Amino acid sequence: VAKYAGRNRFNYFTKDMQEAAQARMHLANDLRIAVAAGQFRVYYQPIVEMSSGQIYKAEALIRWQHPVRGMVSPAEFIPLAEETGLIVPIGEWVFRQAVQQVVQWRRKFHRSFQISVNKSPVQFRHAESLSWPEYLEQQHVSGDSIIVEITEGLLLDAEVEVNKKLLRFRDAGIQVAIDDFGTGYSSLSYLKEFDIDYLKIDQSFVRNLGPGTSDLALCEAIIVMAHKLGFKVIAEGVETSTQHELLAAAGCDYGQGYLYSRPLPPEEFERQLAGKL
Ligand code: C2E
Ligand code: MG
Ligand code: MG
Ligand code: MG
Repeated sequence: VAKYAGRNRFNYFTKDMQEAAQARMHLANDLRIAVAAGQFRVYYQPIVEMSSGQIYKAEALIRWQHPVRGMVSPAEFIPLAEETGLIVPIGEWVFRQAVQQVVQWRRKFHRSFQISVNKSPVQFRHAESLSWPEYLEQQHVSGDSIIVEITEGLLLDAEVEVNKKLLRFRDAGIQVAIDDFGTGYSSLSYLKEFDIDYLKIDQSFVRNLGPGTSDLALCEAIIVMAHKLGFKVIAEGVETSTQHELLAAAGCDYGQGYLYSRPLPPEEFERQLAGKL
């Protein structure tokens, strides 16, 4: 009986794996047409200045309205888009949307408004038809309207080509944020070698924040270190006023999270935030 059950389990296991692989292939195919089919949207989540409550920045976050599956989470399709290289055209589309949006919001809300855009290492290592600095110049949009969010891994591996690209971003006035700070690598040496503007403290340090917790000690230490190095700090995943209070008391510059607002479609972002900008 045991042997039989074992063999059966094995069969189910491979069948599951096969189905999973097939599902991914289907999803990759759907992903291939999604840009042209207009299934993506860019949502915007406010980044709030903790001392004043003012909002001069927002992060662009892609959303996929799949015709059959409904909303597919970026956590599910971004890794697939990276593996298939589709992140290059998708990322370019998000960036261009964000540029058009920031132009509008600079006119409408605040002349120093900025939109923060995620850029995966795959995008950095791939040649684009038009680089971000080139596109901004072509559109007559000043580089300081965009923040690029990169991960620690990109700077640690630091290939020459990636380095050069980042320097051109800096020259164009684009600001640089390290996303998910604290989760990637233990080495901090890249922090002194690159011109960085923001550290985004990962949500995993914010989630269980409370008085006397080791997470609070880590956040405080990150904030002190960042300020000494001349960076500003953005805390991700702020959901409660306790988290907000503790981070603000620790000198954290900006907060982002459901406490302030979920990511919103642009029309709703304008409606909800018109009063606070
Ligand atoms: P991320 O860049 O770290 O973005 C922050 C994520 O945290 C977003 O998830 C956001 O919706 C979520 N979030 C914000 N506030 C809270 C909160 O208070 N609580 C919790 N639990 N979550 C919160 P989202 O939109 O699902 O995106 C997931 C990841 O997908 C992003 O993480 C980013 O790595 C990637 N991604 C999203 N859009 C793009 C894009 O346009 N290009 C690239 N390359 N990656 C993207
Ligand atoms: Mg991000
Ligand atoms: Mg993040
Ligand atoms: Mg994250």
